[in-house]
Amino acid sequence: MRILITNDDGVRAPGLCALIRSLQEVAELRVIAPEREQSAAGHAVTLHKPLRLAPVALSGVNGEVFACNGTPADCVILGALTDSDPPDLVVAGINGGANLGEEVLYSGTVSAAMEAAIQGIPSFAISVTSYDEVDFGPAARFARRLALLLDDLDLPDNSFLNVNVPPVSPEQIQGVAITRLGHRAYINRIHRREDPRGETYYWFSGDPTESDSAPGTDIGAIAENKISITPAHFDLTSYEILDNLDSLLEGLREW
Ligand code: MN
Repeated sequence: MRILITNDDGVRAPGLCALIRSLQEVAELRVIAPEREQSAAGHAVTLHKPLRLAPVALSGVNGEVFACNGTPADCVILGALTDSDPPDLVVAGINGGANLGEEVLYSGTVSAAMEAAIQGIPSFAISVTSYDEVDFGPAARFARRLALLLDDLDLPDNSFLNVNVPPVSPEQIQGVAITRLGHRAYINRIHRREDPRGETYYWFSGDPTESDSAPGTDIGAIAENKISITPAHFDLTSYEILDNLDSLLEGLREW
């Protein structure tokens, strides 16, 4: 199995290193990761500057590792298109910090997995739900099990998996739950300050508020110290209102 690995925390992030060390035992790896942190880069791709790949030596890592001056989605596109054969699997992570609910829309990690799905390559994103210094070992071992399983499994086209792992010891993990996305939006607090030249600048911060953490959601699973696996796809069509939109927009369809 040939796996392309990327992340959004940057090529020197500890979560990436843990993932590489775990997967290199079972697969041939190619690593292309952003040269610096790109968390919350979303699905951005680079169109207005040249992209470059620089070889990086990481201790304890065999195989090719490249730092890329682009986004996580760029890394996946480069990985898919600059190799003689596309990889069998793309794994993005291990992200430091949760990717639950609406966070998947901002996440560079999840967008990398989504880009793989667009390229027709099976993929998953994996995150540990803490920004603190954590042991990525349990998530890295789980990623290996999942990668081996996906090697024999055909996920439906356009689909990928979003995995979140609670930041606890292996003994405290209460199992694995198949979930849907909950709702976890940020109350976007904006700090308005003045720079040394007297000009105003703004800085986003804020805490997530969870409006749906019911059983069955990714947020609910993590609250119970379970690993959550949410199947995802990039079709943003609202099927809920698709059938009714005709009547809702009655009168607008006449041109
Ligand atoms: Mn990140």
